[in-house]
Amino acid sequence: MPRTRKHPEFDPTTGYAYPEHLRGYLDDLPQTPGVYIFHGLNDSLPLYIGKSINIRTRVMSHFRTLDEARMLRQTQRITYIETVGEIGALLLEAQLIKQQQPLFNQKLRRTRQMCSIRLEETTPEIVYSKDVDFARTPNLYGLFASRHSALAALKDLADEVQLCLGVLGLEKIAANRPCFRHMLKRCAGACCGAETIPAHQERLKQQLEQHRIECWPYPGAIGLIEQTDTRTDVHVVHNWLYLGTAATIEKAKQLSTTAAAFDSDGYKILCKPILTESLPVKEL
Ligand SMILES: [Zn+2]
Repeated sequence: MPRTRKHPEFDPTTGYAYPEHLRGYLDDLPQTPGVYIFHGLNDSLPLYIGKSINIRTRVMSHFRTLDEARMLRQTQRITYIETVGEIGALLLEAQLIKQQQPLFNQKLRRTRQMCSIRLEETTPEIVYSKDVDFARTPNLYGLFASRHSALAALKDLADEVQLCLGVLGLEKIAANRPCFRHMLKRCAGACCGAETIPAHQERLKQQLEQHRIECWPYPGAIGLIEQTDTRTDVHVVHNWLYLGTAATIEKAKQLSTTAAAFDSDGYKILCKPILTESLPVKEL
């Protein structure tokens, strides 16, 4: 067909023409887990960093997404870094995006002040990562970028199950008088004795529980191990902070000496695999 001859890379099923200058890079992509990088003309600033359990399939899928055409037109070459498994790809992607701030990735802010909700005995309080060690302090719930968003989350949670904003300390109320929200039937009445304070506290705890920040469960750093027949990745993690990947336990021990404070990216990626022990862990 004449059209095919004119645009040899045109795929009529997707409407996208594969750019000829990237053909060689695409042919080289492996079908393994890892991170891939789209580079533009400026070599020091990548356009985009992504991860997949199958680098080749994932990169090809970018080319079938018309929304990404602008990014792909600027791409001059594609490189990749293989990892043994999915966790390694997630950790490396988060680390590289933070370090290199690619143009088309959603901007991840560097480690900064975070807030959480602490509930010990009675009223919840908002605490800051500069004052409280989030990796080691029990009874913290939720990670927030600001005091404002933590308070908003607490209010939403109260609205969901009719908790009293007065009892939570979020609103001033007169003693033993129903709050305004109770009159609107949006508070179950812990303010005026319609519900006991312990019952109210119990419901608050239940609501918060799903947002609990798990304490770092080891005395020090660990190696989280991903392995195939031919290769081992030991991911070094301490206080939920990813410190790097080594090929052996001995080399991992050298990485483990870096000081480590709580990291929210590491926490999100590692909480489940570490707590469920879905991968082997070696204390370093
Ligand atoms: Zn109330």
